[in-house]
Amino acid sequence: MKLLAKKDVPEVLRSWSNRFTILSPSRKEQGDCLFDIFDKETFTLEYRKPPMPQKSSFLPQSEVIFTVDQGNYSPLISKGQTLLFGIRACDLSGIRQLKSFYTRDRDDIYFRGRAGGTITVVNTCLWPQNETCFCTTMHSGPYAEKDYDIQLFDMGNAFLVELGSDIGKELTSMEVFAEFDQVDAEERLTRLKHMAYNSIPLVPEVAEAMDILKGTGANDKVWERFGRKCIICGGCVYVCPTCTCYNVVDKTISSDSGERIRSWDACLYGGFTREASGHNPRSTQGLRLKRRHEHKLLYYNMTDNQGALCGCVGCGRCSDYCPVHIGTLEVVKAIVEQTS
Ligand code: SF4
Ligand code: SF4
Repeated sequence: MKLLAKKDVPEVLRSWSNRFTILSPSRKEQGDCLFDIFDKETFTLEYRKPPMPQKSSFLPQSEVIFTVDQGNYSPLISKGQTLLFGIRACDLSGIRQLKSFYTRDRDDIYFRGRAGGTITVVNTCLWPQNETCFCTTMHSGPYAEKDYDIQLFDMGNAFLVELGSDIGKELTSMEVFAEFDQVDAEERLTRLKHMAYNSIPLVPEVAEAMDILKGTGANDKVWERFGRKCIICGGCVYVCPTCTCYNVVDKTISSDSGERIRSWDACLYGGFTREASGHNPRSTQGLRLKRRHEHKLLYYNMTDNQGALCGCVGCGRCSDYCPVHIGTLEVVKAIVEQTS
């Protein structure tokens, strides 16, 4: 285990940027903190849960995935390696879910081009980022148990540095990473993890709602009520680190050339499940909300078998940003109240 002074972090990132594209917390003019290409002028360590997860690094909101010119197909596959600095543990679990989705049935070469070989540096949460965090309930935080290269624990002026891979060891061989007494470090780490875990309250309604969904299903009134409230903005889907829906559109450029564009879509939009015949098996907003939450809380949890891998990682963003309060936290509480 090692120690890294916070004042040295920008120089470390500058050095790593010779090898990787570094995405790190960046303070924007309006005060928001978003992940962006490392720039020491806007880089910050003073950030909470960023409003957007880092999925757009691998799955841009809109991207041209291939072009066709005079019959010649040219895939546009990203090259180079990305290092994500400072992501939260829940968002790391979200990336695991994205990788599972985009590789389990067939290899998505466009996704792999962006995500393959990404190096992750997790900044653990020693306290909840806000009142909607429920990562402990979903086993996705507040620190990572696996799949990280480097993990940081805030100790005031410095980070305690935990290493999770060979590349993590290699990247921290610079002199600014001071060796730390192993026994002392283990003790501090155990204390910090314990404190962090206990600071984020468990939400018992999640397990209760999952049991209800597995059994009789939720009372239809839950979906009807939320269906009447939902304004179909798609916000909950776009801020969700585990949502994967997309659409493709072919754009004609000339009689023998064009391009295919892939863009985020949302299962809460009527057009997403409408079939070519015009029939829509999810014909009401209530049914679409039912489908979304059953995916999050039931189907993914029943079919995936990688421990913490989950359709919802408890980041709480859908509760933070839904303008009419239909986040997962509100949904599980309603399922329990109206069905039991
Ligand atoms: S469903 Fe909501 S709480 Fe769960 S991962 Fe998505 S945005 Fe976060
Ligand atoms: S954020 Fe809220 S209002 Fe918007 S689509 Fe999602 S559930 Fe509906």
